[in-house]
Formats: sequence, C-alpha cells, structure tokens
Amino acid sequence: MSEPDIVPEQPSEQHFQIGQKAAETLGRMVDGNGLKAEQVRLARHETLVHQLPGAIFIELKPDFVKGQLSGKREHGKVLGNEAAVIAAANALAPDAVTDKNVQIELLQLLDKDPARGWGIKPFKHPLKVTQKEFCVVDTCSKCAGLTQYPCTTCSGTGGVGCVACGVTGQAACPACHGSGGIQSGDGGRIPCQRCASTGKILCLSCSGAKTVRCNVCRGLAKIGCTECDRSGFWTHTYDMTFHAEAKFEMDRELMPVDLQEIIDRLGVRELATEDHAEIFRLNQNTEQKLLVIPFLAFLPIANVEFSIEGKQYPSGIAGLTGKIMGIDPVLDPVIKPGINALFKLSKGPLAAEALIAQACKYRVLRQILSGLSHHSKRQVYQKITAGYPLVISERFTKAAIKYASDAVLAISRGPRIKGLMIGTVLAAGLYAAYYLSPAQTYNAAKIGALGYGRFAFVAELLVWLAGYVVAWLTIKYMAAGALQKLLPGEVMDKSDTGLPAAGEQGTHALGTTLVAWLLCAFFAFQKPAWVLTLLKMVGKTAGAP
Ligand SMILES: [Zn+2]
Ligand SMILES: [Zn+2]
Ligand SMILES: [Zn+2]
Ligand SMILES: [Zn+2]
Repeated sequence: MSEPDIVPEQPSEQHFQIGQKAAETLGRMVDGNGLKAEQVRLARHETLVHQLPGAIFIELKPDFVKGQLSGKREHGKVLGNEAAVIAAANALAPDAVTDKNVQIELLQLLDKDPARGWGIKPFKHPLKVTQKEFCVVDTCSKCAGLTQYPCTTCSGTGGVGCVACGVTGQAACPACHGSGGIQSGDGGRIPCQRCASTGKILCLSCSGAKTVRCNVCRGLAKIGCTECDRSGFWTHTYDMTFHAEAKFEMDRELMPVDLQEIIDRLGVRELATEDHAEIFRLNQNTEQKLLVIPFLAFLPIANVEFSIEGKQYPSGIAGLTGKIMGIDPVLDPVIKPGINALFKLSKGPLAAEALIAQACKYRVLRQILSGLSHHSKRQVYQKITAGYPLVISERFTKAAIKYASDAVLAISRGPRIKGLMIGTVLAAGLYAAYYLSPAQTYNAAKIGALGYGRFAFVAELLVWLAGYVVAWLTIKYMAAGALQKLLPGEVMDKSDTGLPAAGEQGTHALGTTLVAWLLCAFFAFQKPAWVLTLLKMVGKTAGAP
C-alpha cells in the first residue's frame, strides 16, 4: 500500500537556495549579451517557505446494471422496490470508503499520476471491489400475479358467436332450401320431412347453441401469462458497483492574495509537474461518504536584489526552480547599441559588415539574425521571449526582430532578385517541357479517358503552381547563400535547414511564373481547351484543333 509521506519539521536546504538559482539563471541569460554571467550577484535575499494545503475529495456513488428475469428468482439482497435498492446502495458508501481494498485501489491509481494526485483534474473511476447484487421481486403487471388473464377474444367466456349461422342457431334446410315443401312428381308439393315443413334445421356448426368454442383460449376462457412464465412474478436485478468521483481542491482561505496570484501564475498543477514545490501526500481519512487524501506543498518564495555592474535589481523569485517572477528588463539598455546597428542596417547595405559586426556582439541578436535566416518573425519572437523571459522588454524584442528582419531582407535583396530571375527561367523551362512536348496532350487525353475532363484545367494549374514553387525556393536558396556569406559563421546554425523569407521577390514570382506559364500554354502544339476558350473570348480566331 502507498504509504503517506513524512513531512519534515524544517523545509530542506534547497528551498533557501532559490535566490542563488535565479542569479545563475539570470547570469546565463545576460552572458554574451554585453555582460558576463559572473557580473550578476545576489546582493540580498529573503526567503519564505509557504505551506500550501490541498486535498483530493473522493465520493463514492453507486452505478446499477439493471436486468429483469421472469419468475421469482431471488439472489443477492432482496428488497421491496427500486427506491429501497438505491437507498441501501447509498447506505453502503460509508463502509466502502473505509474499505482498505477501495483505498488501495484509489491510492495506486493516484501513484500512476505524475503529480501523485496533486492538482489532478476531476475524474471518475469504477471500483470493481465494491460489486454487490440486489433484487426486487414484483408481481407480474400483465397478469397482476394471477399467472393467467381472461381471454380478450371471448371476453372470458370461452365461446364466441357462431359465424356460420349469424348467431341464430338455425340454418336453412338443405333438402327443401328453406321452403318447407318439396316438388312432387305430379307437380304438387309434399311437406319436407327433414325439417318438418319448417324450412329450418339446427346450425350444423353450433348445433343450435349459437356460440362455438373460442380458438384463442381453446374454450378455457383464460390465457396463461407468458410475461412471467405463468409464475405471477418478475425479478428485477440490480448489479451495483461504486464509482469514485474525485476532485482536488487547494485550501486558499488563509492564503494572502499575493501568494494566490503567484500560485495562479505558476499553475496549481504545475507546482507538482514542473517541480516548483515540494509535495507531500498525507494519510487518508474518511468523512461520511467521502474519502479525503490530504496534501501539503512547500513553496519557497523569495524577495531578492540582484546587483549587476553596481546597479540594483529587486526581483521576486518563486518555486524550487528559482523562477524569476518580476524584474526590470535588465538587458534593454545593454543591447541597445546592437539594436541601433540593426536599424541602420535595415536602411541599406552601406557599411553592412561593420554594422553586422556591431549587432553580432550580442548573443540574442545573433540568435535573432540566425532565426530569421531560417524561420518566420513570429517563430523567432516566440523563441526569444521563451529564452529571455522578462529580461528584455516586449518593445525591445519586437524592435530587434523588426529591424533584423528588414536588415536580413535588405542585405539579401540582390541575391533574391537574382533568385527571382533564375527561378522564373527554371519555371519557364518546366512549363516549356510540359506544353511544347507530347506530355500535355498525353496527360489531357488520360484525364479525359478517366472521365475527369472537367478537371483538366486544375491539372494545368498545378503545373503552374509547381513552377512557382521552384521559383520561390530558388529565391529562398539564393537569399540563404548570401546570408551565409555575410553573417559571421557562429550566427548560422548549420543544423537548421529552414530557409529565410522570400520577401517581395516571392510575390513577384507569382506574376513572372504566371506570364511564363500562359506564354507556354498559348504556344503549345496542341492548345489546351481553356486556351481556345480564352482565345475565342478575346475575339481572336483560334488555330485548327
Ligand atoms: Zn404474468
Ligand atoms: Zn326442409
Ligand atoms: Zn351456428
Ligand atoms: Zn377465449
């Protein structure tokens, strides 16, 4: 069984070292950005370890699998009705929460959680060990427990009106056809002996009784109840198991507001999963239907003052990882000359090398330049804000990325124009190979044969798109090559295979490849149908098909 943790009387030493840890983190961030790691000193620190109580509250609720058996087939606990079953099941909950097997199952479940249950989302868990059977024996509602019910066909009389005689009991005499007399040989009439001249005889079907036996109940007037197998009873079965409904709650009542804010910024769950706090799981207890698993978390929070080059930076530190929660943007004034160099560089290629050298003195600006050589501005922004939280302001980060992006575009403009020309030629070559050879005719015929004739134009549009992609990639490759030459070797991350932006030349390539594509299509040996349509539309005479 999962034993409860032992809470030490004093928080361990690591709680009081978070200021130092934060100083090291800060040192790593400023290092190479106009400062050195060892210039960051922890001038003053005051650390408080907060004890945060929390608990998982687990309630047991019954689930039923209902069934119905015909007859009196008692098993499990027999009760009078369904309400009694539900009440009896609920009454078992206090016993179930104290059941060691139930507790073991739940604690083992929590052991599988990376935070051992701290901050866990509300969850439900079926508890197999709590299975129990109930049943309710009920009289059959079809026969009201009588095992049989009156036949509705004969209204419980066993007989039905005779159809053959229309419930008269009589039939026309077959000998005299109901006339009472029979034509004699000499033309006179003699009385009918069969019916004694009445013309009527007793009905052959009911022998005059007017009713015949009911076929449905075979004259018994009652029908055995099949619903209850002629027992008069039904047995309702209830297979019950408890499921646990668990939710975690942190006891915030006695916490000061600023502490709550820090916890919310770190995240309650993350206190455990990101090792901000030291967490202890205590011995479980029960309250009525509830199983309570209490926790205690130790969260260190420090007020510190860093000293960098004689300047003081007060800061708030939280959690065992020494996360800096607030600090002035330390690096803003330090990297400013580098950002200025990027700004000048973005205005044109004048003194490019000196300006690049000036900007590349700063690690973060090298990362930005390198990033922009491979990725979009948005991706670079995310990477930089993640790498330098708080120490560079949002304004400075955005300015640095904007100027660096403009600078990268400015210094790679020539090569990109070259890329646009080469790319367009390559695309034109592709279009020519397609339209001025049997490839287009063959392809169109094949598409037509497959019954997709109306998509022929889409296929040709894809050919244009392929050429555009070739041109667009060529621009990017040429720009990448230029940047590789211009930027210092350490800036370029050789393992990063992303390509720089294509800039406005990428947009221009849309036009140049479109023109090349249209030209090739117009001069095709066998002009595509859409070209012919287009020619007709502009009122020119099309060539013979
Ligand atoms: Zn019945
Ligand atoms: Zn007769
Ligand atoms: Zn009859
Ligand atoms: Zn009947």
